[in-house]
Amino acid sequence: MIKHNLKEQRSNILEEMAEAALKVGRRANEISLMAVSKLHPYEEIHALYELGQTLFGENRVQETQQKFPIDRPEKMNVHLIGHLQSNKAKKALELFDCIDSVDSLKLARKLESLLDRPYPILLELKTAEEETKSGFPNEKELLHALDEIAAFKHLRVKGLMTIGPLECGERETRSAFNRLYTLYSQIEVRYPEMELDTLSMGMSSDFRWAIAEGSTLIRVGTKLFGQRIYG
Ligand SMILES: *Cc1c(COP(=O)(O)O)cnc(C)c1O
Repeated sequence: MIKHNLKEQRSNILEEMAEAALKVGRRANEISLMAVSKLHPYEEIHALYELGQTLFGENRVQETQQKFPIDRPEKMNVHLIGHLQSNKAKKALELFDCIDSVDSLKLARKLESLLDRPYPILLELKTAEEETKSGFPNEKELLHALDEIAAFKHLRVKGLMTIGPLECGERETRSAFNRLYTLYSQIEVRYPEMELDTLSMGMSSDFRWAIAEGSTLIRVGTKLFGQRIYG
């Protein structure tokens, strides 16, 4: 029962992604789907994995630790997409394949100090005023931090992430995504040796607009799993 719904919902989303890409002259295979599995049980995550979904997003260290088995399948990639407190940095590095929500120089320094292997991260920019609590507050601060992070031995910046303004219209939402795209392009020029490949933007309600603005990774929860069960 669960499996059937997930299968249908996942293929609907993949179809919509392809349509949205085609509409703006992009290739469907330039864009990946992250299944945002916060507040959904491991049973469903594993069912999706068996359908070919390998990338998952979680927003809390503790929930991830409790929910996933220690020996999860090797190809099941789990990224952190929520704000990370420095005191949980060590645990996060053990649990996640990538931290997509690095939002301060302080956190980046902390992660770097704990590492003895290359480790991928994304930097998160805050592009909407009220709705999001995390993210570098503006481009200038992110670029300033990047000057230092770029020289780190272990952290590898793979790209950028943002949460667009929620419950806004097309124009405002797209303009937030366009800000991230612009910043990404600037970073590509400024740090040609950085191997950037990820522009993470777009969620259930706005991923079509994000794809039109250049997203390479959309993060979908509700539209895939249905409503999250709180509590
Ligand atoms: C929950 C969450 C999502 C998914 O949101 P939906 O609207 O359920 O698709 C995406 N990104 C982040 C950072 C989230 O916390």
